[in-house]
Amino acid sequence: MVQARAVTARLIDGKQIAQETEAEVAAAIARLGFAPGLVAVRVGNDPASEIYVRNKAKKARELGLQGTELIFPESMSEAELLAEVDRLNRDPDVDGILVQLPLPKQINPQRVIEAISPAKDVDGFHPITVGLLHLGRPSFAPCTPAGVIRLIDATHEEIAGKHAVVIGRSDIVGKPMASLLLQRHATVTICHSRTRELAAIARQADILVAAIGRPILVTAQMVKPGAIVIDVGMNRVGPDLAPQIAHDAEKTRLLEKNGTVLLGDVDFARVREVASWITPVPGGVGPMTIAMLMKNTVVAAERRRG
Ligand code: NAP
Repeated sequence: MVQARAVTARLIDGKQIAQETEAEVAAAIARLGFAPGLVAVRVGNDPASEIYVRNKAKKARELGLQGTELIFPESMSEAELLAEVDRLNRDPDVDGILVQLPLPKQINPQRVIEAISPAKDVDGFHPITVGLLHLGRPSFAPCTPAGVIRLIDATHEEIAGKHAVVIGRSDIVGKPMASLLLQRHATVTICHSRTRELAAIARQADILVAAIGRPILVTAQMVKPGAIVIDVGMNRVGPDLAPQIAHDAEKTRLLEKNGTVLLGDVDFARVREVASWITPVPGGVGPMTIAMLMKNTVVAAERRRG
């Protein structure tokens, strides 16, 4: 009798693949012969945004871009921010503009995103950029889903013909993720909070992308043996979740040590016994997002003045 053997999934190392992407960015900048300009705009004092914006500008400078952080007070009006975006649109030294969300409540984020020149829309959120992506004529793919494609490619597994299930349909992750997978000839199913039989659909996936924002929602029972599992979720949780992660020695240790722990949407400890490839959280999708932003900025610079 042949006994079934538990096989532990191989890790997709986002840190290493992000470093490779960053090396390509640095090489492309050296070829360009000038430093592409990336401006990250933050309005107000949201602590998470503060870290994101600082890290983006810092990474830009590390790789040889001109990375600038523009910080405005919480009280800024929409008209003032739109004027600032207009100024950046017309500045020839600025190749990429990103406005960190969320914005204070007096500012309509949609209006601000639509004010960014599509030629400088390195986040890929402008409706024209989104339209081109859905038509299969990508201009700037949103950074997180573009990073996910790169992680899947790093496994050297074929995407074409596979059944990809994306859980989540947000404008910044789920929907563009589905578009990019479709472009790569996957058969794509998108699930969301109203999906019936989520577990049964997820279990059909050869490639499962979780972009939900719910800690360890994806259990081993929802994963087809041998699937590639990509965990976009980033959920900081406290001691109330201790019982649900008791089986995960490493996360439990971190929770006890720090009082909080970062979890993905996937039950990593159990799903890794079922999947063939899996991304960790942290160290999976996260590092790719900034790397792809830098790549988009270099592409923007090449197109405008390369
Ligand atoms: P979002 O805008 O809140 O979207 C979440 C999606 O998940 C929605 O489409 C929602 O469905 C769906 N959903 C919620 N509960 C569900 C359930 N029980 N079953 C099935 N679907 C469910 O979030 P997001 O901006 O896409 O981000 C998702 C996660 O990725 C978050 O944890 C975020 O922090 C993380 N993230 C990470 C990175 C990175 O760089 N690593 C970048 C961006 C986001 P409905 O549409 O029906 O509400």
